[in-house]
Amino acid sequence: MQALKNTFLIGWPDTKDQVPLTVRDYWNFREELTLNNGVLFKNQRIIIPHCLRSEMIARLHSSHLGTEACLRKARDRIFWPDMTTQIKEAVAKCEVWAEYQTANPQQPMQTHKIPERPWTRVGADPFSLHSKDYIVLVDYYSDFVEVDLLKNTNSVFGVRHTVGVSACNILPVPSKVQCKRRVSRKSREELVQESPAR
Ligand SMILES: [Zn+2]
Repeated sequence: MQALKNTFLIGWPDTKDQVPLTVRDYWNFREELTLNNGVLFKNQRIIIPHCLRSEMIARLHSSHLGTEACLRKARDRIFWPDMTTQIKEAVAKCEVWAEYQTANPQQPMQTHKIPERPWTRVGADPFSLHSKDYIVLVDYYSDFVEVDLLKNTNSVFGVRHTVGVSACNILPVPSKVQCKRRVSRKSREELVQESPAR
């Protein structure tokens, strides 16, 4: 780190091969470096010296986050030339993360059939904000989004009722309401409810 500071203070040479070996990795970023109170930055990111890199990785991964999440956190704040590779390697070695991945495999994205008319099939998802319950509805035909205050959150039938009242101010009662039931986060399950035939 001292060599890098020196090079920064003296000024970069004209060609890369004139740069000391320990600093050569920074050649491509030399225009982005600044020194502030003895700390080197690459734009807004602090350049982390060798001796602190393992500790930084350990902190980024302290809650066993995956590679992408760790990288997102890191890329906002810190930098060293081989950071991405080292973070990826550290996460790949983590047994806790590996176990979690096996227990919770990611489901592939699934596309749905586009209905023939608007509001014949809607997606519904309840949520709370400032002690009030709401439901967000998405029409599968148009992707139109509607948010409504929900008075009864205890049952899927309440949800269905709300859907019937709100979305259908415009058009007929949906024939299908697809929603995530808010029992608890663990037992969330996807339900497809048929509403009464009209
Ligand atoms: Zn871990």
